[in-house]
Amino acid sequence: MKFICGNWKMNGSFESTNLWAESAVKASIEFQRVQIGISPPFVFIEKAVKITQDSKVVVGAQNCFWKKNGAFTGEISPKFLKEVGCGFVILGHSERRTIFKETSEEISEKVKASIDEKLKVILCVGETEKEREEDQTFEIVGRQLEESLASCSPESARFIDIAYEPVWAIGTGKVATGDTAQEMHLFIRRFLNNKFGENDIRILYGGSVKPSNWAELCEKQDIDGALVGGVSLIPTDFKRIIQISNKGE
Ligand code: PEP
Repeated sequence: MKFICGNWKMNGSFESTNLWAESAVKASIEFQRVQIGISPPFVFIEKAVKITQDSKVVVGAQNCFWKKNGAFTGEISPKFLKEVGCGFVILGHSERRTIFKETSEEISEKVKASIDEKLKVILCVGETEKEREEDQTFEIVGRQLEESLASCSPESARFIDIAYEPVWAIGTGKVATGDTAQEMHLFIRRFLNNKFGENDIRILYGGSVKPSNWAELCEKQDIDGALVGGVSLIPTDFKRIIQISNKGE
């Protein structure tokens, strides 16, 4: 079963939370062979959880801090996210790594703290355009995985999903070809198998996914779903991506 997860980023309002979450619920009823996730900004999470509570849609957050509570003004802990009804948290998104200068060591702390709370994690990894041009893609993605998952034991694996998101494809309209993405997903799969042994970790692709390019990516062996940014804000297109994924098993 594919996992299609919307990342709303810093977008939306109370009104659009109604619209986007309700349309995710409708899609989950229509297309039952897909797991659907949505990740609203923190302040809209509770509302999204209420709207989706009787459905199979899971609601997640886009970030968290690694402490349970304390004098950390402005931060949100994994414990709070669990309490409000989140099923997962996205960590290490490239916008967090670049704009907010998050390091893989910090991301590793967040991964550990989330898993300690039994909150699932979607860990994002991916290379920049320059790194790809300089033939450093495998080294960079390998290092991000190594460092961000440093604290994880094989028992943690059931709380982890990975999103391969080439930075040059995020919000740019440039998308990896099916073959390029598959090559990276296989590389990530092998890393995970080496580190954790047998596991069910899903590897999502992210980066300018839209209905016109998803069919090619979706059929690749090691692409288990998508993390969708911009298009998750357009209900008809998001639904179409879900529909394309509604195959098999
Ligand atoms: C993302 O934010 O994770 C993402 C993949 O964005 P977009 O689909 O807009 O490229």
